[in-house]
Amino acid sequence: MPLQQTKAVVLAVRTYDEADKIVTVYGQVTGKLNGIAKGAQRSRIRFVNKLELFSLLELGYEESRSSGLVRLDQAELIQPFATIRSDYPSYAAACLVGELVRLWTREADADPRLFSLLTWVLAAIDRLPLPRHGNSLAPPVIYFEIKLLDLLGYRPDLSGCLGCGALDPDRRPYHFSLGTGGLICSICNRESRHGLIPLSLATARILARAQQLPNDKLARLQLPPASALEALNFLHHFSRHLLQREIHSRDSLKNLL
Ligand SMILES: [Zn+2]
Repeated sequence: MPLQQTKAVVLAVRTYDEADKIVTVYGQVTGKLNGIAKGAQRSRIRFVNKLELFSLLELGYEESRSSGLVRLDQAELIQPFATIRSDYPSYAAACLVGELVRLWTREADADPRLFSLLTWVLAAIDRLPLPRHGNSLAPPVIYFEIKLLDLLGYRPDLSGCLGCGALDPDRRPYHFSLGTGGLICSICNRESRHGLIPLSLATARILARAQQLPNDKLARLQLPPASALEALNFLHHFSRHLLQREIHSRDSLKNLL
């Protein structure tokens, strides 16, 4: 089988059979990919300090006929994002990003826009001044998840109340309806409170703005701590509703706020 190449971000690494490593990456041209790096524990030259969590690599691999794992042959480091591994708050934030990508993607289903979004958020975390804390780390991760939902076809409708279209302070409080995937104002809300997540107009407006902005403009968007907490709570409920499972890393980031 010929050697193939892709840029890829490491999402998970575990040791296998003492000498080998099983690695999950998200590749630009491959999407999610599970591979085995034979002898990675011993090979000082090919893989040392490269198959690290959240590193951006140029990866050489071969398809395998016999298993679902590709064989990783070589890796060149493009960007190590080293402070993400050495700083606990950064690590907690990146773990949520990694878990979301692993849960939301299938193997052999590439989306170069998702790859760009992933490398954008890791660079945004890595660029933050130290010491980093929940208030500085939450905004890029929240914008990442809002844009990820867009790419997956689950864009929450935050443009106005699904009933009347308004974003009007007189119609507060607003909620997000998990069932319909949009906002509902207090006048139009005649349902029970089941499946309704509180979402203030201020937070809804910031998240709607994030949906519109290109990645490289997101750093300008201010997200006050109270809105960050509210947005994380909203995303927690919406993603759990869509995925039908818990996302465990979210609590670590919430605890930093
Ligand atoms: Zn309404």
